[in-house]
Amino acid sequence: MCRIAIVLLGAVLGLLAAPVHAAWLSRAVDGIMGTRIFVELWAEDDAKQRGEQAIDAVMDEMRHIDESMSVYKPTSEVSKVNSLAVQQPVTISPELFKLLTTALEYSRITEGAFDITYASVGYMYDFRARKRPTEQQIQSALPAVNYRHVLLDAATSTVRFTQPGVRIDLGGIAKGYAVDCGIDILRARGFTHALVNAGGDSRVIGDRFGKPWVIGIRHPDHPDQVITRVPLTDSAFSTSGDYERYFDEDGVRYHHIIDPRTGHSASKVRSATVIAPTATRTDGLSKTAFVLGADEAMRIYNSLADVDAILVTPDGRILYSKGLEPAGQPPSSPAGH
Ligand code: ADP
Ligand code: MG
Repeated sequence: MCRIAIVLLGAVLGLLAAPVHAAWLSRAVDGIMGTRIFVELWAEDDAKQRGEQAIDAVMDEMRHIDESMSVYKPTSEVSKVNSLAVQQPVTISPELFKLLTTALEYSRITEGAFDITYASVGYMYDFRARKRPTEQQIQSALPAVNYRHVLLDAATSTVRFTQPGVRIDLGGIAKGYAVDCGIDILRARGFTHALVNAGGDSRVIGDRFGKPWVIGIRHPDHPDQVITRVPLTDSAFSTSGDYERYFDEDGVRYHHIIDPRTGHSASKVRSATVIAPTATRTDGLSKTAFVLGADEAMRIYNSLADVDAILVTPDGRILYSKGLEPAGQPPSSPAGH
């Protein structure tokens, strides 16, 4: 009884003390999906509580996706698939079935550069512990790396691996997917200006009141230096970089994006930022340039009408896809005219 009275009084005093204004609400939570989740949204006067509740719901959704998709949690659905799908078809949730279907689509779109079976070799790397497989270990595990070894059966909602040694890891797409789920939650609750970020993957709803959101792309070697900025509204973007999880040894950088063809770190660019309508899409495409190189990757990005990209090459050049190229000079009139 007493407790309720005190709480209510507190609430009334709080109301009196703080004039009510529409405001940006934001929250960052560490340790979900191995990263920091950040949510920011614009809440009108009467929607602050709904705003906080919406952020709670986004964080809960991210935790749920982490529980089901993480290979670091032995109880996750993906861990179960990894331990059983070589022997038998494994029944999985509609959510995981759909995301695996999407992941395989991105393998086809990227001509095999994006491949969740990279993990058949990838699991032997530990970048924090500066651990990497020997060439012999890579060669013996490499035949298991191929997205075609993952068979999905929609009729039974099962997944099966066709080869021994196959492992999958959704680290290259689950964060983008989770960002999209977070955005869906905010949209369903009526928020029209918001940002959701998970590691390298982000998506925004609307703008920042007449002005676009502006993303900065960092210098691969200098975290504080921004090498270019891009204005965005109602878009998703993912940046992959060789500076995120890595160690250097004898002048070689070993980092977390793996070339499915070789089992080695893929180093054809230093960073790749992809812009598209959804974060699942940008996440699924941002690894491509590391594996295929700038030219091949740009060919793919430019062939997708809703995709743009900014690449930083090993020699420090910044390359833009067709839709982002800075406006050129007006064509000079040919001599004599
Ligand atoms: P972030 O984790 O910050 O979103 P990225 O989007 O660049 O970073 O994803 C990197 C992750 O993608 C790696 O940690 C690994 O889990 C996964 N990965 C690495 N190589 C590949 C690949 N060739 N295809 C698909 N996923 C990959
Ligand atoms: Mg990502």
